Amino acid sequence: MLNFLIERYFKTRPVLDVSICTVCAACKDACPTKAIDIFPLIPDVELRPKVGEPRNRPEFAYQKCSRCYRCRDLCPQKAILMYKPFLSGLLK
Ligand code: SF4
Ligand code: SF4
Repeated sequence: MLNFLIERYFKTRPVLDVSICTVCAACKDACPTKAIDIFPLIPDVELRPKVGEPRNRPEFAYQKCSRCYRCRDLCPQKAILMYKPFLSGLLK
């Protein structure tokens, strides 16, 4: 539980802009810690793809992520962003 809270509220992490991801899997292939896998979109109203948008997307296993940001740097669509939680400044 503590690990989950630290991952979620204190540590910077890569996040996906699903609206521009083409699901090319370059990020998955490039991840040195195998922290990315491709999964079907969660059948939630907000995440439901619009017509023409992909039906799968990469997901991050943050416990495995070393925060190298190789995925963000290599994404041809610039669909991976670095998210910095509000409390991240407290972790030094
Ligand atoms: S590299 Fe970019 S476009 Fe390709 S699957 Fe990953 S996030 Fe999506
Ligand atoms: S930041 Fe590095 S370790 Fe984390 S998901 Fe991206 S490529 Fe993998």
